[in-house]
Amino acid sequence: MNAIVDAPRLQRELDTLATFSEHPPPAVTRVVFGEMDLRARAYLKTLFVDASLVVHEDPVGNTFARWSGSNPSRAPVATGSHCDAIPNAGRFDGTVGVLGGLEAIRALQRAGFTPERSIDLIVFTSEEPTRFGIGCLGSRLLASALDPSAGEVLTSEGQSLNQIRSSAGFSGPLADVPLPGGTYAAFVELHIEQGPILDRDRIDVGVVTAIAAPASFRIFVEGEGGHAGAVLMPDRHDAFLAAAEIALSIERIARSSGSIDTVATTGVCELFPAAINSVPSRTRLDVDVRDIDQARRDAVLREIERACDTIAVHRGVTVRTEPINADPPAHCAPAIVDAIERACDARGFQHRRMISRAYHDSLFMSRIAPTGMIFIPCRDGTSHRPEEYAAPEAIARGVAVLADALAVLAG
Ligand SMILES: [Zn+2]
Repeated sequence: MNAIVDAPRLQRELDTLATFSEHPPPAVTRVVFGEMDLRARAYLKTLFVDASLVVHEDPVGNTFARWSGSNPSRAPVATGSHCDAIPNAGRFDGTVGVLGGLEAIRALQRAGFTPERSIDLIVFTSEEPTRFGIGCLGSRLLASALDPSAGEVLTSEGQSLNQIRSSAGFSGPLADVPLPGGTYAAFVELHIEQGPILDRDRIDVGVVTAIAAPASFRIFVEGEGGHAGAVLMPDRHDAFLAAAEIALSIERIARSSGSIDTVATTGVCELFPAAINSVPSRTRLDVDVRDIDQARRDAVLREIERACDTIAVHRGVTVRTEPINADPPAHCAPAIVDAIERACDARGFQHRRMISRAYHDSLFMSRIAPTGMIFIPCRDGTSHRPEEYAAPEAIARGVAVLADALAVLAG
């Protein structure tokens, strides 16, 4: 079996998909259930049908395109990724795993391969949190990691997820979305690395062994405001300065966890009343902490809580934290890691084991199926920006490895 990737065709399809964007090129913006998302989905479905795949969509719009195997009694395997894009993003995040997954299937078809297990290509709804504030909406629901009441709870511009999905043509109860464990024998996602390692070290393929999981939370600091000229320095309870100390503590705590895999980011800082001549009375911080080791990550979270308490006392302010989410990290299935490495070796591609610091739909698929991820280099590790770039040869190598891994996993 020798699957040959049609790289020029795949590039043309990536080019076409990039035209479905709410911002002009090279930027790509495709917000879930917006007009461009729906047009991109329609385009993808025509390609799936052209490849003789049988398409079905679930109530949240997750799209499944099936290449039927010769033995329907065996659990299928799956690949796929997402096609939504955050505002002013690039053209390769997610799309390489969708169109690359399709090309892997077509390459196997052209090579005359007949899978024993069916192969599903999945396009997950709303991997990006842009519209509903929660990432991996589709895969979370598939893995029962999100309650179906989210249909009413999650909103965007005053409309519920249920209202928005039904205007986009996706109906039926969200309770029908979850898949039982065992539905898939394997899931493999192809994705750009979104980090600099493969590009810098000239490695063809990253074989993901674990996916770090984010915990995110808000910190509310309440101090005392006042006139910037009138309140003397010894009398101040400046909410921003307390928050600044907290942010510096978060950095220190993450750096002293004992592992380079611990990362913590204070990405949002909001001041009130945010006036140049007023001492800040309230400040809000949004913080993201990630690690591949859940115990270590949770220890970091506890230490941040303690730091908040200490700083609150010392600065005479009150500090309250509120969790946003805390997902467990995922570990990839050894059999899939092995299949990917063998495929690289057989093709003579340089490969390296690595962890994924960004989260992906694979984080949730790993709860219901043995999961693996194939990373390909992207220039300078740049992602979520219009400059995002993956070379055609790099994409083609990833697709070839995916095809070979699927052939092994689908038997
Ligand atoms: Zn992505």
